[in-house]
Amino acid sequence: MLLGPPGAGKGTMAALISDCAGLSVFVTGDVLRSEIERESELGLSIKEDVEAGRLVDDKTILALVKDFLANHKEGVIFDGFPRTVNQARGLRSLISSQDELRVVYLDVGTETILARLGARRVCPECGSIYNLRFSPPARDLVCDKCNTKLIRRKDDTDEVIRQRIGVYERRTAPLIDYFSDVLIKVDGNGTPSEVFETVRGELCPG
Ligand code: AMP
Repeated sequence: MLLGPPGAGKGTMAALISDCAGLSVFVTGDVLRSEIERESELGLSIKEDVEAGRLVDDKTILALVKDFLANHKEGVIFDGFPRTVNQARGLRSLISSQDELRVVYLDVGTETILARLGARRVCPECGSIYNLRFSPPARDLVCDKCNTKLIRRKDDTDEVIRQRIGVYERRTAPLIDYFSDVLIKVDGNGTPSEVFETVRGELCPG
């Protein structure tokens, strides 16, 4: 699992860990955004919350996680889950006692969060993440991997970013204590390759 505030680099690290550990990534935010995009019943019911930076209810999230886990018995990397202590308890009840839980906590300061999210652009097609200042695409606003035009997420506006940071502090940060026995705390303030060096040493030895 990857834990950390919005803009900590969870998505970027999840993709890199996926390559070295050979595990699938379950990105709750991407799943929710794609439901909204295709205007499914679920998408319509969560649209307002996601676009305002509020959390979707635990029951909905745990149902999605349960489905995904049923098809990925080899192990999973979670990006954006769990976000509440209740979700973390739900996860523990879905997995067996022999399953190994590891939580990478990306510790970043508020300045870093604001600088990263304001300049973040994402590929709506393949989910690649860029930063116009720190890791821009080779061609202006076009995805390096699939040539799709990059977009700014609807919830990456100043007002919603502030709301999301508040929600993180109130509802998600308590998980740092909750997972203290399995927590790997990493300084997330560096470049993606600097941060990944530390993460790789912990999760992808050899
Ligand atoms: P993210 O892409 O992880 O920043 O998530 C974007 C938005 O999706 C969040 O601000 C929430 O509205 C919603 N979301 C993603 N993951 C969760 C979760 N585990 N629990 C509740 N809401 C979530």
